[in-house]
Amino acid sequence: MNTGSYVNGKWYRPASSGTTRNINPADTSDVIAEYPLATAADVGLAIDAAVAAWPSWKKTPGPERGRVLWRAADIARRRLDEIARTLTREEGKILKEARGEVLKGISLLEYYAGEGFRMHGKTLPSESRDTFTYTVRQPMGVVGLIAPWNFPWAIPVWKSAPAIVSGNCVVFKPSELTPATTVLLTEIYEEAGLPPGVFNMLVGIGPEVGEAMVAAPQLRAISFTGSNRVGGALYVKAAQRGAKVTCEMGGKNAVIVMPDADLDKAAIAIHGGAFGSTGQRCTATSRVIAHAEIKNALVERLVAAAKRIKLGPGLDDSSEMGPSVGDRQWQTVMDYITVGQGEGARMLTGGTRPAALSHGYFVEPTIFDGVSPSMRIFKEEIFGPVLAVTTASSLEEALQFANGVEYGLTTSIFTENISSVMKFVDEVETGMVHVNEPTVGGEAQLPFGGTKSTGVGEREMAEEGLNFFTELKTVFINYSGKAERSMTR
Ligand code: NAD
Repeated sequence: MNTGSYVNGKWYRPASSGTTRNINPADTSDVIAEYPLATAADVGLAIDAAVAAWPSWKKTPGPERGRVLWRAADIARRRLDEIARTLTREEGKILKEARGEVLKGISLLEYYAGEGFRMHGKTLPSESRDTFTYTVRQPMGVVGLIAPWNFPWAIPVWKSAPAIVSGNCVVFKPSELTPATTVLLTEIYEEAGLPPGVFNMLVGIGPEVGEAMVAAPQLRAISFTGSNRVGGALYVKAAQRGAKVTCEMGGKNAVIVMPDADLDKAAIAIHGGAFGSTGQRCTATSRVIAHAEIKNALVERLVAAAKRIKLGPGLDDSSEMGPSVGDRQWQTVMDYITVGQGEGARMLTGGTRPAALSHGYFVEPTIFDGVSPSMRIFKEEIFGPVLAVTTASSLEEALQFANGVEYGLTTSIFTENISSVMKFVDEVETGMVHVNEPTVGGEAQLPFGGTKSTGVGEREMAEEGLNFFTELKTVFINYSGKAERSMTR
């Protein structure tokens, strides 16, 4: 396995003395690899390579660019097991979830491969006689992509595939916590025939490599996914120098459960949304807002299911939930559990690290009841297997609670009543809404992203994800033979 960075079609070892250790969070004695850290100087090298590669990549026909992604999808399918195992070993999610993530990335590669045939503009009638007006989409140039650790395969794909197919060259920074999966993606792009300089990948830390990318004037666009703390500051800096920016950040996703809901189905969906991937999905369910009439019956089901979860290393087929990604994230989760207890919420299950799993960053699935909308565990992103249950007396109150946080990524409702569904879809303040299903999930062809503090800029995935990486050019062709435009009014 390569453990360096990748610039201009070559793997190399950055000259810095710093390294990052990639550790299996399910077993901290398992060191996957040690990566030399790239520096700001390496960002310069990557940008030079990308700038040099751009004129030729831009002129490569879109369908041809798309075929590289298609080949990458085929190679990824062939290497599915290797990618999934690497992902589980460095991020912690169970193998079944890792395979699902790899398959999702493959769908995204296939979807964007097809976009190489489209990248369409619009033809619109002009107000002038004998004038042909239309728009074309053109690549932006060299773009910078910065990713988090929680989807180390799918997010790098959903950022890089639209950037590449629309004719841009890329400088990519994975999270320093999960570089190994992105190394595999880089190898796959190389094997698929991506020309040198089109995709450059630097393993480095945010304050060095990330900062240098954000400051670099050659990077015309910055696409970031991660925390609000980092994204908020990055957005200001990149916007100040006129770069196009998209930031997808935190979430605090709720499920509203109405009295007419199928409680068994609601409990299964909430359970999967809250504890799947150890709660480390931006779309994870972290709040339940249950109608008073069914709250106790629902909580009973949730607690029983949480108690049955088998914690363990993701590479063990019998495990149902893996660890937190690392020591800092584990500590954050434990701190929030203490905060919840201190705020007076009732912890019904969980709250500790099982003694038998002390060699990894495990936390038991944890459920708090009696959570009021003013509590921190109701409002702040925890990013772990912690679920807060709040009671509401009506749909109006449930919506008020759901909307009463700074985030706006995704929400779900369980109800059989069409009026409740329509009111919910109209009034809930999130970028994605679900009815009678979990808060999680996204599909290649559907826009993904949030409102309020969760997201700024264009949505990701789908056509919107491609549009972000293009400039729109409006064209006026006057074939009237006259120098002036002849307006019809
Ligand atoms: P993070 O903000 O700590 O790091 C994200 C990336 O930014 C990493 O690559 C990191 O090295 C880099 N970075 C750190 N400091 C930087 C700086 N000063 N300048 C530039 N880059 C810098 O986030 P994380 O802990 O890796 O990821 C978890 C967060 O990501 C959660 O808040 C989660 O909700 C969010 N997330 C959001 C979505 C979404 O689509 N809304 C998807 C996945 C994850």
